[in-house]
Amino acid sequence: MSATAPVAVSRPTPPRAKSPGLAGAAFWTLMRRIAVLALCVDVLYFVLFHVLGPPVLAWINVVSVAMYGAAYVLILQRRNAAAIFLMWAEVLGHATLGTVLLGWESGFHYFLLMFIPLIGMGRSARAMIALLALLLACYLGLDALSHHRGAVSPLSPAGLMTVRWINIVIVFSMFVSLAYFYRGTILRAEKRLHLMATRDPLTGLANRQHFQSLAEHEVTRSRRSGEPVALVMADVDFFKRINDRHGHDAGDTVLGHIGDTLLRTVREQDIVARWGGEEFLMLLPNTDAAGARVVAERIRRSVGSFEVAHEGQGIASTLSFGTTTLRPEESLSDALRRVDSALYRSKAEGRNRVVSE
Ligand code: GH3
Ligand code: MG
Ligand code: MG
Repeated sequence: MSATAPVAVSRPTPPRAKSPGLAGAAFWTLMRRIAVLALCVDVLYFVLFHVLGPPVLAWINVVSVAMYGAAYVLILQRRNAAAIFLMWAEVLGHATLGTVLLGWESGFHYFLLMFIPLIGMGRSARAMIALLALLLACYLGLDALSHHRGAVSPLSPAGLMTVRWINIVIVFSMFVSLAYFYRGTILRAEKRLHLMATRDPLTGLANRQHFQSLAEHEVTRSRRSGEPVALVMADVDFFKRINDRHGHDAGDTVLGHIGDTLLRTVREQDIVARWGGEEFLMLLPNTDAAGARVVAERIRRSVGSFEVAHEGQGIASTLSFGTTTLRPEESLSDALRRVDSALYRSKAEGRNRVVSE
């Protein structure tokens, strides 16, 4: 083996097990945007009510602007609970006051409906049901009150329609933003779950189960088209010694480097998996016995010619290979048994070599 300078390992980022949940960074970015949007809307209302109605309505919006500004700063300071409290208090107060002062037709009550998806983000189902029941009671109570008393500060019909339409557009936009946020959250979670279910976290290669389902599919396809299919199995030589001499982390780094080398060496359509601890398995579609040996030799030479850098040390490693091709009418598990026995012979014959069966 001709060892060269140590190489740094860069491999596909393995899936992370930690779930950021709905209250993750994306949620607080959304809340910051909502605070800015709501602040701008309240500035608009301040101007509008100076033109349309009694000044008291305009000054309510000054209080709202101050509350959203404070909420924005609180989110930046990561005082999230205080920020959420301010924003919820503002929506609740503004929706209630707007409905009482201008009447049900003003559409201010629609803002209360925004609480439904936000309450739905909570983790406790009991708290969620209680809050939703309270919200429904408040909503019905507000409806009864405003229809019973009528508007305290009525607007002209044109003014009322303008305010209602603005409110409808704002509430509509906020629901769209929330739906977009939920969609992004669900898509990211699905992707993360798929990665966790199909990939080996250390090397980023396919895991055993995923290999098997992809391989069965590929074998069926190749049988139909009459193309040859090859299997290549590789096992790190004396890997236990690497762990014993350099530590388990160093062993992991070597495995990551080997995973990188496999991915770099094979074609796009080849399936590469971490089959077990320090064992790798590849299925090469449209490849005959000679082709499989060529690929295995190329990987053997590539891995054997590098030292992996770990904490200032260079760690050399070699691989032993077994290769075979699928015979007509043979099951994948029969071919796997044969490639495993070829690998066993490769170990018995001295390691760091390719043996075909
Ligand atoms: P051989 O040449 O016969 O294959 O010898 P070997 O030492 O490679 O084989 P053996 O089966 O004796 O040891 C394999 C070692 O691989 C033992 C196990 O602790 C280690 N191993 C398995 N999975 C991992 C892993 O994810 N990370 C690390 N660092 N070590 C692992
Ligand atoms: Mg081994
Ligand atoms: Mg092994």
